[in-house]
Amino acid sequence: MKNKIKALALFSGGLDSVLAARIVVELGVDVEAVYFVNAFLQGYRDRATMGSYPVLAEIAREAGIRLHVVDIARAHLQIVQSPKYGYGEHMNPCIDCRIIMLKQAKEFMQKNGFSFIVSGEVLGQRPMSQRREALNIIDRDADCKGLILRPLCAKLLKPTSAEEKGWVDREKLCSFSGRSRKPQLVLAQELGVKKHLAPAGGCLLTDPAFARKFRNLCGLGKVDVRQVQLLKIGRHFYFSPAGIRIIVGRDEQENSYLEKAASAQDTLMKMGDFSGPLTIILGNGLGEMGKLLEVAARITARYSKGKEEKLVRVEYWNKREEKRHSLFVQPTLPGESRADGSLRLEDSLAKSA
Ligand code: SF4
Repeated sequence: MKNKIKALALFSGGLDSVLAARIVVELGVDVEAVYFVNAFLQGYRDRATMGSYPVLAEIAREAGIRLHVVDIARAHLQIVQSPKYGYGEHMNPCIDCRIIMLKQAKEFMQKNGFSFIVSGEVLGQRPMSQRREALNIIDRDADCKGLILRPLCAKLLKPTSAEEKGWVDREKLCSFSGRSRKPQLVLAQELGVKKHLAPAGGCLLTDPAFARKFRNLCGLGKVDVRQVQLLKIGRHFYFSPAGIRIIVGRDEQENSYLEKAASAQDTLMKMGDFSGPLTIILGNGLGEMGKLLEVAARITARYSKGKEEKLVRVEYWNKREEKRHSLFVQPTLPGESRADGSLRLEDSLAKSA
């Protein structure tokens, strides 16, 4: 019996990617999906604790598609820091990001016996990465020319190998373009697609507050995945001139995440006699911090139940020594600003981030 053709669909859980995969399923092709995760996706930090992406898995299940999850966080972070094609409105290097995803998809396709790639782009829907010229650049730089079928706008593009070889009927593909979502909603009804993620909610590089924080972080030197993870939670303070980062947890979940994420070089801090946040000072040994310890302790106290007290005890330690030390400080007053400019609070992300 002749083997059925297999296609690999790029999957984000958004409506377009679900529809693109479903169209190809309807045309009789075996479709599996791959979700490339990077450190800037909203749920990325949950992976360590949850080990899976249950919402996405559920969406893929409803669409009748097997889902693979591939972590590309490190390679992706490199291109985010120096993209060949620049950034979109904020820190989102969408063209370079699509190129790296397609390169990875091609590798996955070749290793696992898929014949072509399916992608949910709609011509002209996004100003940066979904222009015709950008799509051509993406296909060329990813070395995927002719391999990527974009079912939602295929009739507006040159035929791909999947159409030329008769694996899919070009006449049954779509010619959607522009920003309107109406044709997709109609198609979703026709195909019975009910589950999908809200549009454009997942990538923090398009969030202005996060992008500002990330830009500041990049200004201090090379960034790693752990630093990006930490950027998503807590209140962030920079202590100048070295730009040392102090992160204060905003709830129990964040406190426990910070405690686990602290490395042997970081200093942890919490209230001795009141309930309050867990704070970490990134990247400093206990020996030489003097003023920084006092500042971090005062901030920790300000967000604790002891914030109205004149003097409170704050404990600090690191994972190398475990021995706890104590410091007595006055909590920072609400609205207190540091006249010497040595401390700067960054906007916190919304809790849901
Ligand atoms: S929005 Fe984010 S994840 Fe999506 S293509 Fe752009 S950089 Fe990549």
